Amino acid sequence: MGNFLTKFFHAELITVGDELLKGSTLNTNAKFLGQKLTDLGFRFHAHVSCPDQVEVIKSKLGEALERSDLIILSGGLGPTPDDVTRDAVADYFSSPLVFSKSQYARIESLYRRYGKRIPSIVRKEAMFPRQSHPLINRFGIALGFSIVFKHRLIVVLPGVPQELEKMYSEQVQALIVKHFHGLRKRYSLIVKTVGLSEPDVMSRLKKDFFDVPFDFGIYPQPGEVALRLYADQRSIIRRLKEKIQKRLGKDVYAFEETSLSEVIGRILVQKKKTLGVAESCTGGMLAQEITRVSGASRYFKGGIVAYSNALKHQFLGVPQEILKKFGAVSEKTAAFMAQGSKGMMEVDYAISITGIAGPDGGTRKKPAGRVYLALATPRQLKIWEKDFWGDRIQVQTKSVKKALECLWREIK
Ligand code: ATP
Repeated sequence: MGNFLTKFFHAELITVGDELLKGSTLNTNAKFLGQKLTDLGFRFHAHVSCPDQVEVIKSKLGEALERSDLIILSGGLGPTPDDVTRDAVADYFSSPLVFSKSQYARIESLYRRYGKRIPSIVRKEAMFPRQSHPLINRFGIALGFSIVFKHRLIVVLPGVPQELEKMYSEQVQALIVKHFHGLRKRYSLIVKTVGLSEPDVMSRLKKDFFDVPFDFGIYPQPGEVALRLYADQRSIIRRLKEKIQKRLGKDVYAFEETSLSEVIGRILVQKKKTLGVAESCTGGMLAQEITRVSGASRYFKGGIVAYSNALKHQFLGVPQEILKKFGAVSEKTAAFMAQGSKGMMEVDYAISITGIAGPDGGTRKKPAGRVYLALATPRQLKIWEKDFWGDRIQVQTKSVKKALECLWREIK
């Protein structure tokens, strides 16, 4: 049944699972669904996580139905006694569970393929409330289902993120769009900046940026800040993008959901250039970040983690006297590391990082968080001295991001 647009439709997520409340599982389903439903134009009254308890699930479902048009529940559809979402929803709507022969046949064939006998408790996963429409799960065992109740749409999905995401993309989004046919599409813009802090971004955008109606989210991460903007009209987004280009332009590395290492990869492929790294205090994190990108082998030749002075000398050719006179954490050592790796790996660009990740090891002259970065390019050598604030992992993460930023500014 369809629904008419009043002003905005509201969605609500009920993520079920003790593990979400205890903090042993990160609620990535909420992130995924939150983004997808926002993109579709939904607003949220609330998003709730609740334990695997029938009464709590029923009470949260009741509250959600009071105020929201679309309610998605995830998790607790498994075969074990603690998986009670199916029973709670069936009980709430007084809709007895019935058996899906076709889903059960699918489950049986899966078990057969792996030469296993189907355990009797698994039968539960092919059940759905009579009043609902089953949602076939091609990627796992548990059946999902949807219910229409007083113009509301309720969708129940398995908790396993890969199953939930695929089911959403293949079936649920179409179901939602069909049900809420007055849904007003919202236009969005993602902005990824590097090298700016949150206050830098806000002051550069200036107050008049916010004069038009749109939703604005700002998300800082070590070394970078992302923005997410939503508006009801494409023309508003276009104008906002133009302003962002003028006010933040030189620090924007993408207008899409991507990473700095991915953008660098694209540029290096396009320019047919190669890259190598030499790391000390980041212990390989820079190489790891670069190799997160599929196809990195097209431009990344490799990295050397030279933690000790002996290896800095032996593998990267940092002279003993430089290490003795200036120390391993110094501009000079960073410079030799970058140049040494560039020559040895025969690459167009080489980045080096050496520093004191902390919390120990700092001195008055070189405090914990002091990091030297160097970039050897086909034409020159550039060196940076940075003092990063934070614990050991934060210093390492910020060093990696800064190294990537320096490279990106050089090659873009
Ligand atoms: P299954 O039938 O496979 O057991 P299920 O619907 O019963 O699926 P759960 O048992 O609740 O799902 O969870 C299965 C797995 O998915 C667990 O590893 C759990 O930690 C993870 N999971 C559940 N909910 C979420 C969530 N909101 N975000 C991320 N992971 C989740």
